[in-house]
Amino acid sequence: MAVDTETFSLLRDGVARFVRERLMPREREIAGLDRPPRDLLDEVRELGLFGLTYPEEYGGLGLDALQEVQIGFELGRTSPAMRNFISIHNGVAGQCLRHAGTPEQKQRYMRRLASGEIVAAFALTEPDVGSDAKAVKTVAKRSGRGWKISGRKRFISNASFAGLFTVFARTTDETGKSSLSAFLVEPGAKGLEIGKSERKMGQHGAPICDLMFEECYVEDDALLGGKPGVGLEAAMKGLDRGRLFIAACCVGLAYRLTEDASDYANARQQFGVPIARHQLVQALLADSLTETFAARGMVESAARKAVEGDRITCEASMCKLFATEMVGRVADRAVQVHGGNGYISDYMVEQLYRDVRVLRIYEGTSQIQQIIIAKDLTSRRIRGERLS
Ligand SMILES: Cc1cc2nc3c(=O)[nH]c(=O)nc-3n(C[C@H](O)[C@H](O)[C@H](O)COP(=O)(O)OP(=O)(O)OC[C@H]3O[C@@H](n4cnc5c(N)ncnc54)[C@H](O)[C@@H]3O)c2cc1C
Repeated sequence: MAVDTETFSLLRDGVARFVRERLMPREREIAGLDRPPRDLLDEVRELGLFGLTYPEEYGGLGLDALQEVQIGFELGRTSPAMRNFISIHNGVAGQCLRHAGTPEQKQRYMRRLASGEIVAAFALTEPDVGSDAKAVKTVAKRSGRGWKISGRKRFISNASFAGLFTVFARTTDETGKSSLSAFLVEPGAKGLEIGKSERKMGQHGAPICDLMFEECYVEDDALLGGKPGVGLEAAMKGLDRGRLFIAACCVGLAYRLTEDASDYANARQQFGVPIARHQLVQALLADSLTETFAARGMVESAARKAVEGDRITCEASMCKLFATEMVGRVADRAVQVHGGNGYISDYMVEQLYRDVRVLRIYEGTSQIQQIIIAKDLTSRRIRGERLS
């Protein structure tokens, strides 16, 4: 599903204007808060950004992957903290419900999520469980007509203001077989406590908290897909689109950083000329633009494949790996072009340099992306497939 070209270009122009006129001037203010300000959330709602990927039948925009990444290119131009909640809400958190929810579960939540009445969060990571998602220790045990969830989730984005958590927990059936299941949990659930916001290196203004579950009771109809064991597959499908969107946002941010560095290089004079005239500074700028362009091409190509209906697990991992590492190098070069000023908080490049670091960690570290890519390529060769 996709919106028509004219509607989409109005949306993209509206998002570009919103980023330029409303978000960028408030990047510092938001970095000092522990959640996105209410007035900006209202504007995000009005623009329809809460419904980017939600199907039209539930009031969402139902953008296809190619349209979604174009929006990512625009949203990416501002601090990742500003669009983090939109990414999670439309990405992993929302996609799980979309891929695996029962018709009743979709009916109960999708319209409220798409309109932005409630924000979604995705709770997989635990104190002892990160990259090895299958090792989840949180358990859900049968209790009457429902389940009791016990355990702790760590670093959960949006937790302090979310209206719906997709929580991953281990369940065991009558035969003793254990599987990873997902539960749709609302913040008021008895036995759920939301921890304080963590202090972090960057992306200030995008809160992450722990979730503590102590025999937290949920009804049967909170079990995603209505049966145990559908959690992991749903999460993996959700991650494909989420990773592609992160890569798209990295492209937007890399353009922003390269523009800022270029403007600074044109304005700053050393040795009697703008530093942009020094060839070693030109090399920094040229490498940044070239790598940004390469990432853009990768992201668009993977998105096209998704639009054609192909599974893009490997492509999404390649995009996330390349684009997140790329924006790290671009941010580093942007600081270098700014010289000492690049290290001073008065310049946005200092904040953005810290903001980009976590992009290589969440939704699967760079090493996990490499593992996914290598597994895919070696198994394709075992099947005798030609790589292309
Ligand atoms: C700001 C922020 C927001 C987050 N938001 C969410 C959220 O909303 N929901 C959620 O569930 N989680 C969230 N997370 C958690 C995030 O997804 C995890 O931190 C990430 O998956 C890595 O897990 P870990 O921190 O436990 O690292 P670990 O898994 O302990 O990894 C540590 C290091 O070992 C490497 N490593 C691990 N296994 C292997 C291997 N097999 N081969 C090679 N190297 C390996 C890793 O690449 C890494 O370098 C967030 C984290 C942060 C910092």
